[in-house]
Amino acid sequence: MSERAYKTPLHVRQKNKRHYMKMLKEGKCGRCGKIDDRTRQGRSMCAACNEKSHAQPKKPLTEERREADNATKREWAKMRRDAGLCVDCGAKDARTINGKCWCLQCSRKRSARARANRNPEHESELRLARKEKRIAAGMCSVCGKPKEEPDKKMCIDCRVKAKYRKEKHKINSGWMPRGVNGKCWQCNKEMAIEGKRLCQSCYDTKVEKLMEVVAKRKSQ
Ligand SMILES: [Zn+2]
Ligand SMILES: [Zn+2]
Ligand SMILES: [Zn+2]
Ligand SMILES: [Zn+2]
Repeated sequence: MSERAYKTPLHVRQKNKRHYMKMLKEGKCGRCGKIDDRTRQGRSMCAACNEKSHAQPKKPLTEERREADNATKREWAKMRRDAGLCVDCGAKDARTINGKCWCLQCSRKRSARARANRNPEHESELRLARKEKRIAAGMCSVCGKPKEEPDKKMCIDCRVKAKYRKEKHKINSGWMPRGVNGKCWQCNKEMAIEGKRLCQSCYDTKVEKLMEVVAKRKSQ
């Protein structure tokens, strides 16, 4: 961020910040220095100043103004986060002390806003784009991490999870799970080996495949 984007010079900003932090530590309003119920609750502004700051009419945003505003917001957000305060309102609560960016009140507000502004169509577009990007990069299409076998779309972890979800769905929709009748889990034709879920030939194939994977991992 270039220095030009800021409306106020650096030394003024630093002075403002010092003043703000001092007021906050003393439980006073960051704007006027008054103490009231709000500031006693750990909020950064008294009720009157809060009212005033919300009542201000919004000036039309030019590109430059937006840039400057965002730069200022980022700077204050960082300072508040470093001081263990809510990034949005400057309050301190159990959440912010534990390193979260927002106090309980603000995080609730944010999630409500996010819920109201949801756009399922756009979300699925984004999801699809993300998936395609991952496939193009040769990564797992679900989690984006490197995958063990290049000819598969997913990594082993995601494949196991997907399979588990699929089986669960099948069972829920009335499908008889494999292995219940004592037959092989894989081919569902031969009887399974006692104490195992696979028949002899499927078991041998599986072991062979696993050995291949192990050998591949060792050679990497
Ligand atoms: Zn005030
Ligand atoms: Zn907050
Ligand atoms: Zn994955
Ligand atoms: Zn089998």
